[in-house]
Amino acid sequence: MTVAPAIVERLCAAAGPGGWTMDQHDIAPHLVEARGLFRGASPLLLKPPDTAAVATIMAICHETRTKVVPQGGNTGLVGGATPFDGGDEVLLSLARMNRVRAIDALDNTLTVEAGCTLAAVQQAAASADRLFPLRIASEGSCTIGGNLSTNAGGTQVIRYGNTRDLVLGIEAVLPDGRVWNGLRALRKDNTGYDLKQLFIGGEGTLGVITAAVLKLFPRPRDVQTAMVAVPSPAAGIELLSLGRGLTGDQLTAFELMARIGLDFVLRHVPATADPFRDRHDWYALIEVSGGDSPGALRPAMEALLETALERGLAVDAVLAESVAQAQALWRLREDLSDAQKPEGGSIKHDISVPVSRMADFIARADVAVRALVPNCRPVAFGHVGDGNVHFNVSQPVGADRAVFLARWGEVNKVVHDIAAGLDGSISAEHGIGRLKRDELVHYKGAVELDLMRAVKAALDPRGIMNPGKMV
Ligand SMILES: Cc1cc2nc3c(=O)[nH]c(=O)nc-3n(C[C@H](O)[C@H](O)[C@H](O)COP(=O)(O)OP(=O)(O)OC[C@H]3O[C@@H](n4cnc5c(N)ncnc54)[C@H](O)[C@@H]3O)c2cc1C
Repeated sequence: MTVAPAIVERLCAAAGPGGWTMDQHDIAPHLVEARGLFRGASPLLLKPPDTAAVATIMAICHETRTKVVPQGGNTGLVGGATPFDGGDEVLLSLARMNRVRAIDALDNTLTVEAGCTLAAVQQAAASADRLFPLRIASEGSCTIGGNLSTNAGGTQVIRYGNTRDLVLGIEAVLPDGRVWNGLRALRKDNTGYDLKQLFIGGEGTLGVITAAVLKLFPRPRDVQTAMVAVPSPAAGIELLSLGRGLTGDQLTAFELMARIGLDFVLRHVPATADPFRDRHDWYALIEVSGGDSPGALRPAMEALLETALERGLAVDAVLAESVAQAQALWRLREDLSDAQKPEGGSIKHDISVPVSRMADFIARADVAVRALVPNCRPVAFGHVGDGNVHFNVSQPVGADRAVFLARWGEVNKVVHDIAAGLDGSISAEHGIGRLKRDELVHYKGAVELDLMRAVKAALDPRGIMNPGKMV
């Protein structure tokens, strides 16, 4: 089944000149999930220029029961922006809606359209001498609409929160084509349900986010970055707690990484170097930022590193002496996702547990996956300051990739059961999409699932908004 030509014609007219394509060559990149895990089909890619056009498109889709898959930068990692292969869904890209509508340095707000890339949003904030603190490795391609719809996390959550915490208001087009203008710049507004929160993290299942009012923060005048070799994940977690205390809660990033991850980066990413002379089992990348002048936080960072070494929470440490050195340290962490690819198949996890239980999780998951797949190579890394670790499992050296990946579900179950048993979550930041939809049913309670389905039915009674994703 595809979309009837008469409907296609109306949708193209609504999107306007330059606002659509049926050329499968142009559509092809929009049909594949970022890691190639999912592929789909669609006869039509719509690229409306403004909110009014999105509203008209959704009204037509509602009337004709045409299914819609919203898409931003297509960097999502759970197949949420990938249509199914039936060819009866239209793709709705927000890419052309990339205007900055307003910057207000007094309100500390930035109003942007959904198709702005995250990098463009960061630049717009910097142009007003402010900070928009969401930072993720895909920031050059992902869009703020996608960040909102996935409630993206990233490396600064420990200090500033998830995307959900960085938004004051949104504008959204409902599945029936009505526009909800919730573009408020209020930090206090207790006038009923906080409806924007339904769309944030909604993965495009409840409507199309077309614009948002974002919170801005003072731009830090100083940033100190250090890589610390830690004896164990447990020591890393204690170091995190120490760091928060000693830096006056100016810790803005705390990333943990197993040695195998560093090995992968050094092996596969050009122009990278081990910052330490000796090999160590675990590393923490620490960033503190804030202060009123360059170098202001240096003493606090030095005190943290000295105390950590004295207490045995660190075995060695490297403090960046320049911006270039700080960037080189960050590359070791940020290039880790890509560096896993040449090592063969990798079974991914994106779990969270309470921070206090992180070391326990890593230890248990490590034993469990090695027992299940002998010689597999767990690669634990991530934003452990938020209790989030990407506990990925690389295939045994020399194993058959396809045979290993065929065990994806089995390995997931073992790891997710351990996270759930520690009061954790099976998705800390990437969301549910297509990848974890069945698992969501397994791990969520019946009452919570009922509530989610009731919300979906209330907002999207015809089931046209990104169907088959999440709920
Ligand atoms: C190298 C790399 C690093 C990454 N690092 C992180 C990380 O640290 N933290 C993290 O959280 N994620 C990370 N991600 C995942 C991804 O970048 C985020 O999920 C991002 O927020 C997706 O934005 P996008 O614009 O690409 O959305 P897409 O992938 O296009 O879409 C994601 C979901 O949102 C929906 N959607 C998109 N736009 C809209 C809209 N305007 N209205 C309604 N629904 C919409 C889609 O239907 C889909 O369900 C990473 C990805 C890559 C490739």
